[in-house]
Amino acid sequence: MPAIEQTFIMIKPDAVRDRKTGQIIDRIERSGLTIEKMEKCVLDEETVKVHYAHLADKPFFPSLVAFMTSGPVVKMVVSGLSAVSKMRTLMGATNPLDAAPGTIRGDFAVDVNANVIHGSDSLENAAIEIERFFG
Ligand code: UDP
Repeated sequence: MPAIEQTFIMIKPDAVRDRKTGQIIDRIERSGLTIEKMEKCVLDEETVKVHYAHLADKPFFPSLVAFMTSGPVVKMVVSGLSAVSKMRTLMGATNPLDAAPGTIRGDFAVDVNANVIHGSDSLENAAIEIERFFG
């Protein structure tokens, strides 16, 4: 049975800069999910390094940290039935070249380094990320 879940979503600096926030929020709400909390903020380097700690040994890590701190993000708690997997489906693949048309990354992103949106990849990580970004 699908359960009501909460997931952590973040519209990344590229999409905020390009004024895509409204269109992305519209897609989330049209899918039947609910925005419980939302705040625009600039992330500090330490928070980004903790958030992406699983990628610390990748060659793109320094540019990822620079990108994620380059301007405001819009962070959200989104809830609904199977919210974690539903948002991952709505977002599309990490690399926009693989993301299907109709997904957020498929329609708005062109570059794996700046791929418009973050969404928790498991219920366990959702709880950790909501605590990290909203306390
Ligand atoms: N990323 C990147 N280059 C890559 C792979 C990933 O810059 O070759 C960035 C991209 O912004 C991605 C983030 O690192 O969203 C986290 O990667 P992860 O594999 O956790 O994918 P996600 O959960 O965001 O789909």
